Amino acid sequence: MLDIAIIGAGPAGLAAALRFHQKGFRPRIYESVPELKPLGVGIDVKVYGTKELVELGLYDEFVDISVDAKTSIFYNNHGQEIYAELCGVHMGYEHEQRFVHRGYLQMLLYRTVIERLGADAVVQGVRFVRYDQDADGVTVELEHADGTTEQVRADVLVAADGIKSAARRQMHPEQAEPHYSGITMYRGTTLMDPFNDGHSILHIGAPQIATMIVYPIADDFEGSGKTLVNWVVERDGEETIEDWNQLGSVEDILPLFDTVDLPFLDVQQMLRDNREVYLFPLIRHDPLESWTDGRVVLIGDAAHAMYPRGGNGACQAIVDGGALAGRLAAHEDPVVALKEFEAARLPKVNGMVMAHRGEGYEVIRRMVADRTNCEPFEDIEQVLPMAEADAIFSKYHAMVGQPRPGFEAGETTGFRTWSVDAAR
Ligand SMILES: Cc1cc2nc3c(=O)[nH]c(=O)nc-3n(C[C@H](O)[C@H](O)[C@H](O)COP(=O)(O)OP(=O)(O)OC[C@H]3O[C@@H](n4cnc5c(N)ncnc54)[C@H](O)[C@@H]3O)c2cc1C
Repeated sequence: MLDIAIIGAGPAGLAAALRFHQKGFRPRIYESVPELKPLGVGIDVKVYGTKELVELGLYDEFVDISVDAKTSIFYNNHGQEIYAELCGVHMGYEHEQRFVHRGYLQMLLYRTVIERLGADAVVQGVRFVRYDQDADGVTVELEHADGTTEQVRADVLVAADGIKSAARRQMHPEQAEPHYSGITMYRGTTLMDPFNDGHSILHIGAPQIATMIVYPIADDFEGSGKTLVNWVVERDGEETIEDWNQLGSVEDILPLFDTVDLPFLDVQQMLRDNREVYLFPLIRHDPLESWTDGRVVLIGDAAHAMYPRGGNGACQAIVDGGALAGRLAAHEDPVVALKEFEAARLPKVNGMVMAHRGEGYEVIRRMVADRTNCEPFEDIEQVLPMAEADAIFSKYHAMVGQPRPGFEAGETTGFRTWSVDAAR
C-alpha cells in the first residue's frame, strides 16, 4: 500500500486524507500550526462542493453547521434590485448550495479524519521545509516548533500548504512573485437577527465605489439565538500582506455604503456591530504550468490559488482529493497517477483562476452603475433587460462546471423578487 504524506490540514489536505482513506490508503498529515482552531469567516459552498461532502459521508454533519442558500439577489448602490436567481436544489440542481463558516467546516473535516484514520493521522506543530526524491520515494524535511528537524519518507507527497506554499516555491522557483490587484477585501461577521428569509445571499453596490456580499453562515450561532452573518466588502485599496488573519477597521468602509437603502437590512448597523474584520488583498497568483514533480503533487490553494470570490477556491480544493485518490488507486506507478490527475484537472482549474480575476456574473452591478452613472433608476428592464442578465449568468455557471438546469434549452431562470411578490 502506498505511503502518502500530506502537508497542510486545511480543507484541501483534510478532504484529500478522507478520500485516500476511502480508497484504502492511510495517509498522514503534517500541519504547521500547533493546534488547529476554527479560523476564517464564511465560505459559499457550491452544489459540487456539497456533492463532495455527501460522497465523504458528511452530509448530515455539514447541514448541522451550515445554512441552505435559497436566493441570490443583486442590488445597486441605492439598494434597488437588479436581478435574482435561485440557488442549489431550489434552482433544480441535484445538490444544495450552502453557506458555512470556514473554520467550522475545517474542524468537521479534522474531527472526521481523527475518527476514521486515528489520532496520529494529523501531526500538528511541524512545518514542511523541503522535499528530495529518488526512484523509490520522497524524503520530506520537517521542522518542529523547537527548531529541531526531522526527515520522513513517503511514496507520495501531497502538498496542500495553501497560498504561500513552500512546496510550490520549491517546485517553481522561477514563478513570478504574486502581484497585488489594487483591490482590497474587508471580510467580517456580525451576530444579528436573520435578514430577508434567512437564506439569501445579497450582492450590493457599484464596483466604481465599493461592493458588498452578505450571507448567513450559522443559525443560533453557539446557542446565542442569533444568526452569524458573513459580509465581504471589495474596494480599491493599498497593498498589504497576504495574510488571512490580518485585522482591518470598519471605519474605512462605512462611508462607502451610506446610500444603500434596503427594506429588510440596515447595512450600516450590520457593519458597525461586527464581531471581527479582516483585511485581505486580492493577489494575482499566475496559473502554474504543472502541479507535479515526480512523486510530489500540489493541490488546493498551493496549486491553484484564486481570488476568494464566489466559493470556488475552497470547493475546487475539496474536489482535488477525490480526483487524486481515484487515480492513485487505479495505477501501480504513483508518478503516472499524479500526471493523470494533473492532465484532468489543471487546464480546467487554471481557466477558473483566470476567470476569477474578472468579475464573473457580478459584472451586472458594474453594467448597471455605468448605464445609470451610479444614480437610482426608474425601470431596471430599461437598464439591464432580463434576457441580457440571464445570458451572463448562464454562461458563468456553465464555465464553473454547473450549467443551469434548462440552460441547454435556453430557458430563462432569473427573476426579480418584487415581481414574484407582486404575483403572489
Ligand atoms: C487561517 C485561515 C483563514 C482563512 N479564512 C478564509 C475565509 O474567511 N474565506 C475564504 O474564502 N478562505 C479562507 N481561507 C482560505 C481557504 O481555506 C482556502 O482558500 C481554501 O479552502 C483552500 O484550502 P487549502 O487547504 O488549499 O488552503 P488553506 O485553507 O490555506 O490551508 C493550508 C494549510 O496548510 C498549513 N501550512 C501552510 N504552510 C505549511 C507548511 N510549510 N508546513 C505545514 N503546514 C503548512 C496551513 O497552516 C493551513 O492549515 C483561510 C485560510 C486560512 C489558513
